[in-house]
Amino acid sequence: MSTFNVAGSFNVAKFGGTSVANFEAMSRCAAIIENNPNTKLVVSSACSGVTNLLVELANGVQDTNRRKTVLSELAQIHHSILDQLADPVEAEKQVHSILDNVASAAEAASFQSSKKLTDHLVACGELMSTFLLTQIMRERGIEAVRFDIRDVLRTDNNHGKAEPQLEEIASLAKEKLIPLCQSHVVITQGFIGSDLEGNTTTLGRGGSDYSAALIAESVQASGLEIWTDVPGIYTTDPRIAPNASPIPEISFSEASEMANFGAKILHPSTLVPALRHDIPVFVGSSKEPEKGGTWIRHQVESSPLFRALALRCNQTMVTLRSANMFHAYGFLAKVFEILAKHKISVDLITTSEISVSLTLDQTDTAGGAPELPQAVREELEQLCTVEVEHNLCLVALIGNNMSESKGYAKQVFSTLEDFNLRMICYGASPHNLCFLLHESVSRSAIQKLHKELFES
Ligand code: ASP
Ligand code: MG
Repeated sequence: MSTFNVAGSFNVAKFGGTSVANFEAMSRCAAIIENNPNTKLVVSSACSGVTNLLVELANGVQDTNRRKTVLSELAQIHHSILDQLADPVEAEKQVHSILDNVASAAEAASFQSSKKLTDHLVACGELMSTFLLTQIMRERGIEAVRFDIRDVLRTDNNHGKAEPQLEEIASLAKEKLIPLCQSHVVITQGFIGSDLEGNTTTLGRGGSDYSAALIAESVQASGLEIWTDVPGIYTTDPRIAPNASPIPEISFSEASEMANFGAKILHPSTLVPALRHDIPVFVGSSKEPEKGGTWIRHQVESSPLFRALALRCNQTMVTLRSANMFHAYGFLAKVFEILAKHKISVDLITTSEISVSLTLDQTDTAGGAPELPQAVREELEQLCTVEVEHNLCLVALIGNNMSESKGYAKQVFSTLEDFNLRMICYGASPHNLCFLLHESVSRSAIQKLHKELFES
């Protein structure tokens, strides 16, 4: 009698855009999958650069020459992979039909773009890359099958930033995905889903990590591998501090802080589903899998006071001052009522007797500086003076038990004595101590702190 894999006994592996950028990159992914027989479900991004081109088309390109150029760039990226397949016939047919579809949708978008049409267009990157990766796997003798994740990843119809419907996803995965993973290595798309009516939706830029985590949750995977272009999580960005060192193991709480505070390795929502189901997450480089990577787990062996430094730029700080706030109550409530009404999400906050400073949350701006909308400003000005500052960066020192530990503040602050700290946040989380500094000095603040706290 054959034994069947049950839910929970296999890994989900996700490959990002640079990992599937071309034939060689895809072949490296295939080798990684081959070497991990426990990996049964593969989530792929679009080939590097493709989503950006599709977004451009979706925004409506009036100039027909430019439109042609974009379309031919898209064709070229995919053709360079097709050209290296031993048996390209089926993949070629599929890719061509999607490219035709892209061309007509791009034309439609040049007349009138919409969020729905945008999702339809930008989803095409993942739809194409998965045909190619599947064929590469097959040519290596792996029994791979491509699966359209829109049959499982049900979302609401909030195009561009759709909300996954967890219960439906779980039951569809049980019905359609888990059985397929018993007999095949399943290759599917990140980033995309579909609403109740069958319209294509997307989870937001960079959403493939989040997709992979949702899918891993839905099949109760034993592990989630995120293969990217860096060999795991480092004590800080090695491009800023070359002596940054890899972190072999880190807790979910610390890793979430890092993702939230701008470490670009993981999409900030990624860890939420993994945490819910306690699925260990591995982050490694598909270029250098032999270098290992970082495991993110619930329980870790060591919980050092200082774990890492993260940098997030493009911060917008808003300072609200009211003479009436002196010994008054209700001012903050009024401020937050206005912000909530306008769906403005706040990140950091500090208060004094007559003023409050806050930074605006960045999740909707694809990394750009968030703006305080004019209508919100006007409403706040009825209440207090409003001052907005730009060109600030957030430096977050991430660690453990910081709010219960003694004796380290002197070391941190004397390292930063030459810097003007525009705002400091500390105390609410045991895992971080954050500073807001001017952009021009933020990298050197990271370098100094890294040297002092991580290199000695
Ligand atoms: N391809 C999508 C993007 O570039 C999703 C992803 O790769 O995570 O945003
Ligand atoms: Mg990514």
